[in-house]
Amino acid sequence: MESSIRDKYEVVIGLEVHAQMLTKSKAYSNDINEYGSQPNSNVSVITLGHPGTLPKMNKKTIEYAIKLGLACGCNIAEEQYFARKNYFYPDLPKGYQITQDKTPICTGGVIHIKLENGEEKEIGLTRIHMEEDAGKSIHDVDVFDTLVDLNRAGVPLLEVVSEPDIRSSQEAYTYLTEVRKLVRYLEICDGNMEEGSLRCDANISVRIKGNPEFGTKIEVKNMNSIRNVQRAIEFEIVRQITALENGETLYQETRSYDALKNTTMSMRSKEAANDYRYFPEPDLQPLIVDEVQINTIRKEMPALPRDLHIKYTSTLGLSEYDAGILTDQKGTALFYEEVIALTSNYKAAANWIIGDVKSYLNEFGVDIEDFPLPALRIAELIALIDEGKVSPSVASQKIFPVMMKHAEKTPLLIAEELNLIQDSNEDAILGFIHEVIRLNPTETERYRAGEKQLIGFFMGQLMKVSKGKADPKAANALMRQTLEH
Ligand code: ADP
Ligand code: MG
Repeated sequence: MESSIRDKYEVVIGLEVHAQMLTKSKAYSNDINEYGSQPNSNVSVITLGHPGTLPKMNKKTIEYAIKLGLACGCNIAEEQYFARKNYFYPDLPKGYQITQDKTPICTGGVIHIKLENGEEKEIGLTRIHMEEDAGKSIHDVDVFDTLVDLNRAGVPLLEVVSEPDIRSSQEAYTYLTEVRKLVRYLEICDGNMEEGSLRCDANISVRIKGNPEFGTKIEVKNMNSIRNVQRAIEFEIVRQITALENGETLYQETRSYDALKNTTMSMRSKEAANDYRYFPEPDLQPLIVDEVQINTIRKEMPALPRDLHIKYTSTLGLSEYDAGILTDQKGTALFYEEVIALTSNYKAAANWIIGDVKSYLNEFGVDIEDFPLPALRIAELIALIDEGKVSPSVASQKIFPVMMKHAEKTPLLIAEELNLIQDSNEDAILGFIHEVIRLNPTETERYRAGEKQLIGFFMGQLMKVSKGKADPKAANALMRQTLEH
C-alpha cells in the first residue's frame, strides 16, 4: 500500500489476552491441569457439569490474579461474584463458562512498553478477570470428523483486556512480549503461545487522522505466535484502509487469521454474535478479598522486569541493550543478581553473562537454571582479571572452558595449573619483547621509521611468544619504549 494513503489513517488496537494459569488443578475441580495428557483423561463430573455437582474455587487462581493485578498497578476489587456465560458448543459440556462479568478482580492499571525511539509508553488496562477455559475442538487430526478434548475444560484463565491505546502492529508486538515476560516472571503462566497457554484476540480499527471517533472495530482470532499477531494486524490494517478507500463500509465482525496464507477470513458478524445471557453463578459464593491478603501477596512479589531494567540502566550504568538482554528472561536476571552480589564490576558481570555464559547455554541447549557454574565462580573470574592475574581473552578462551567441566575448581587454581598467570614482571616481559624484535627485523625498522600503527602487530606477536601471559598494560608501555630506543 502506498504510504501516502496509509499515512492518512490512524490505527487503533485493543488486545484481549487469555493466559492459562499454572495451577496444579483446574479452576473449580480437582482435575489435573496439564497440557499434553492423554485426551479426555482429566475430566471429572464437575468439569462436565453433571447435575448435583458443585464447583469449588481453587484459591491459587485468586492469588495469581492479584499478583498480576499488583504487577500492573490495578485496583483489586474487594467484593466480587462470578457469572455464567451461556452458549452452546460441543467443547463446552456444561453449556456455560464460569467467568467474572460485572465485577472483574482487577481494573485499571497499565503495561509499559518501549517504543522504537526508546521512549516508554503506557498501555492502559480496562480489566483483568478470572474465567475457566472451554475444551478444545480439534479440526485437523481427522479428515472427516472434529475431535473434542475436554482436558482443557475448566482450566483457569486470566483475561487481560487492554484499552484501545495501541497504535501500530509493532506496539502490539511489544505489548504482548511484555505481558508474556510479566506472567513468566510471576510464574503464573508459561506464556507458550504455540501450545495455546497464552492466546490473543486483536481488535483493530482505522480512522482518518484527526477524527475524534473510533472506526469500526474488527476482532481477529487464532494467531499462535506474537509474530503472527503482528502479521495479522498488518494484514487487517491494509485490508480495512483499502476497503474504506474504495468507498466500502466496514461492519463489526470476528475474523480468523490464516497463518499459511497470511490473510484473515470472516467467521461471524456482530449480528450473528452470541447473546451470552450472563447471570450470577448460583453455585459459588461471592469472593471477598481483604487488605491483609493483598499485602501478604505484595510481600511475596518477585522483582519485576521493568524495575530491574531501570535499576540496571540507572543505578548500575549498563546500556539499554545489556539491560534488555539481562531482563528478558527471569532466570538470566536472577543469575546476574547473584553475580553482582559478589562483585562490584557490574559491566564485567553483564559481559560474562551476555557473552560466554549465553554462548555456552545456546551451544549445549541448556537453560540458565541448569547452568553448571555457581555465580561465585563468575565473580572469582572477574576478580582474577581485575587483579591483573590473567587477561580477559585468556580467561574466556582458556580458563572458562575448563571451569565448565570443573565447577569445583576456582579459576585461580585452574590458571595456576595451566600456567596461565600473567607476567607483569618487567624482566620476563622484556625477554619476550627482545624475542619479538629479533624475529621481526623488517617491522622493527618500519616502526622506527615512523609507522607507529605497527604497535598492534607487535603486541599480537608478544602475546603469541608469551602464550598470552604478558600483562598487556605493562607490556604495551615497555614495547613502545624498547622499540623507540
Ligand atoms: P466487546 O464488547 O465487543 O468485547 P469491548 O468494548 O469489550 O468490546 O472491547 C474489547 C476490546 O476491543 C478491548 O481491548 C478494547 O480496547 C478494544 N476496542 C474497543 N473499541 C475499539 C476500536 N474502535 N478499535 C480497536 N479496538 C477497540
Ligand atoms: Mg470482549
